[in-house]
Amino acid sequence: MNVHIDFLWARLRAPFFSGWGSIRDRPLLLVRVEDSDGQVGLGEAAPLPDYHGVGVDDVLEALNACREMLAAASPGPATAQALAEWRRMAVLPAVAAIDTAFWDLESRQTGQPVWRRLGARVPDPLEVNHTIAASDRAGAAAEAGVARAAGFGCVKVKVGIGDDAGRLAAVRAVLGPDVAIRLDANGAWSVDEAVAALRSLAPVGIELCEEPVRGLEQTRQVAAAVPEVALALDETASAAGALEERVCRAICLKIAGFGGISGLLDAARRARRTGYEVYLASTLDGPLGIAAALHAAAAVRPDRPCGLATLGLFAERDDPLPARAGRIEIPTGAGLGDGLTEWYRGNLM
Ligand SMILES: [Mg+2]
Repeated sequence: MNVHIDFLWARLRAPFFSGWGSIRDRPLLLVRVEDSDGQVGLGEAAPLPDYHGVGVDDVLEALNACREMLAAASPGPATAQALAEWRRMAVLPAVAAIDTAFWDLESRQTGQPVWRRLGARVPDPLEVNHTIAASDRAGAAAEAGVARAAGFGCVKVKVGIGDDAGRLAAVRAVLGPDVAIRLDANGAWSVDEAVAALRSLAPVGIELCEEPVRGLEQTRQVAAAVPEVALALDETASAAGALEERVCRAICLKIAGFGGISGLLDAARRARRTGYEVYLASTLDGPLGIAAALHAAAAVRPDRPCGLATLGLFAERDDPLPARAGRIEIPTGAGLGDGLTEWYRGNLM
């Protein structure tokens, strides 16, 4: 088995602001596995250093270790065991890329879409939220207008980045009462700040607030103090023990943060057992990462709209998985689906 790695910077239309900072260019690693018959599977590693705690160099190092192991190995139990060991030790965005590439490869070998191999029924289009990237009132209001016109039923607004109340009021004024507003603080608040902010923002009408604070105990405290606002773990979903005890209403799971499709499905099973509502999101992934999440979602059947309509945030590229009326079609072609690689062309380094 050969593993080939390409690196690209994908430019966003505008700086993307959140509680962990802002970015304009997104580093992505495109991973290609090829078996001895020349069959190919593709995956993507999408590390965000401020978010996952690992950068491109860490992921490249892990992928190179995997590449050398797979190139030297022959198919059999010893290789499978070495790969399993690597999955346990390696950084999660690297594991996600290899896991996704193997799902793509094995599904293409049998001519099926990944969702069918995951045991999903013919999937309905997946409900997704629109994410507002602007940090100012006028920009946020304009984006809300676009989301409303496009038929989204849920819009996500970043908070903890200044003028939250003003932006949120401007967004609600544009959306009217029927479109849900989801907040995401990316852990920017302390417990006291989160309690005060959520109590003051709640009258605007909030579907839920993602990651108001970092940490399980901190989230539990905010949930107890502000029961009128549903909370979701996001960054904290990766904390030790997060899937074993329910500290709030919902949990957001991601391909890059849970080691690909396999890791995400396992996490979703454990989270549901604990009583969480589950939904999926991307970390500004490219089309392969988004497609992997769509296939996983077909099996998971999320309880809330998913944060997977993020390809429109990129500049100079057509979105191969666009949302229509707030929903994205699950790809029906073999593997992860057709038409996903054009997005990466001409920008590989
Ligand atoms: Mg989030």
